[in-house]
Parts: sequence; C-alpha cells; structure tokens
Amino acid sequence: MPIDQVAISPFDRGFLLGDSIYEVIPVYKGKMLAHNQHFQRLINGLHAIGIEPPYTPSQLADICVAVLLEDEAAQLIYIQVTRGNEQIRKHRFPIDCAPTVLIFPMSFTPSINENHPGCAAHLQDDIRWQRCTIKATSLMGNVLAYQQLYIDGVPNDEALLIRDGHVVEAPSSNLFMAKDGIIFTPPIDNILPGITRALVIDIALGLGLEVWVTNSLEELKPVISIDGQAVGQAIPGKIWRQLLKSFQALKGCEA
Ligand code: PLP
Repeated sequence: MPIDQVAISPFDRGFLLGDSIYEVIPVYKGKMLAHNQHFQRLINGLHAIGIEPPYTPSQLADICVAVLLEDEAAQLIYIQVTRGNEQIRKHRFPIDCAPTVLIFPMSFTPSINENHPGCAAHLQDDIRWQRCTIKATSLMGNVLAYQQLYIDGVPNDEALLIRDGHVVEAPSSNLFMAKDGIIFTPPIDNILPGITRALVIDIALGLGLEVWVTNSLEELKPVISIDGQAVGQAIPGKIWRQLLKSFQALKGCEA
C-alpha cells in the first residue's frame, strides 16, 4: 500500500519497546540474494524472543516478490516483525496479540567498488546488549556507536566494537582479517550471524583451495580438477597467479 496509508498503532510494541526483529535483504536486478538464509535468520530471531513467525519462508518470498514488482528500482527489502499491539504499555509479553509485519523496498547508493580507497576504523567499547545473535530492532548501542563517529567528525569511518578485549564486529557489519594467507573472522557465538559473512566464507573456501605442480620445464602448472572433482572454482587461482608472476620476475633477475 502507499506509505501514507500505512497505519501502525503507537501502542505497537515495536515502537514502544523495540520489541521486534528485522531483516534487510539485498536485491540485485530485481532478485533477492540469499533470501532463504535471511528468512531463516528472521524466523530464528522470532523463535528466540518467543514470537510465533506469522509467515513461512515461502509465504515471505511471495510477499517480497510482490513488493519488488511494485518497485523495480528497489535495492533492498526491509522486513520488521513486532510482537504487536496490546493497547497498553507493559513489559511482559501480552496474552493475546498478533504480530505486526512491515515490509518495504528501499534504495541505497552502493559505495564500494574495486577502486575504494579503504576507510579508517576506530575502536569503541561494545555497549550493546548481550544477545547480539538476535537481529532485534532495539539498536541503541549501534546507534550510539555511529553517532560517536559523527560527533568525532568522521561520519564515514567505521567503528570496531571491543568486548572482553576482543574486536567482535562493527555496529552493522561483520569483520574479517587476513594475515599470512589465513582469513580470520570472529566466531558467531554472540555476534550477528551475518549472511554476507557466510557467503564470503563459502567463496573463500571455494577460492582458497588451489593445487599446482612445479618442474623446471613447466615451472608452475595449475591443476583444476582431480579425478573429475573441481579444485576450488576449477580455474587457475589467485595465489598461483601471484606466484607465477613472482617466478617470472625471478627468472628476469637471473637472466
Ligand atoms: N553485524 C551487525 C551488528 C549487523 O547489524 C549486520 C547487518 O545489519 C551485520 C553484522 C551484517 O549482516 P548481513 O551480512 O546479514 O547483512
């Protein structure tokens, strides 16, 4: 429906208490990426806070597809499910209350491409609540983290949150680090299990496996399958390419 016709009660617990779960699903050329993983995380979050999911993943998919048909330029789908509206403000769960579901398309300007110069990051104490696996809309700690960057005059920088002496994630992102050819990322035991994080780990696992053989005649020869089974992405890999380049340089040096 048009946004000016949307009516949500001021007694809705999402509004009064931040008592709700949300999801943000990326959309590329009208198609959602990894929507099943996003729906599953939404459902996990609802179960974690005792809300019976109002829709199955396939019903959610149908609704989101219908929403996307209304807005072909959409780049994101936002979903929020609140515990509902009991016409009263009480902390304890209501006895009888149907969830409120809000789904809308959004746009954003993608800012990252291969020419990105990199951003500065700043360490901050993680002041968020302790159940960060749940994608709850009560985001005060995350809001204050980004506001601090704004106050410090660096609104486009990133905050890295420290809990018990470890950097765990950013206020709206997971974190990766690569050192000596090994990719590290904090475990998801008490941070948001990011869908992008999972996709990147899959890609890294696929990319990470490389095999090549070496000899004086052929130098470094990439192997793309073994007994018919693909090695990584079944194409010569990045590490091999870098080594080959260095090897060519080595030959140049000796000549
Ligand atoms: N960590 C936090 C605290 C987040 O809020 C988000 C996304 O909003 C992420 C990580 C990244 O999750 P995803 O890759 O599923 O967008």
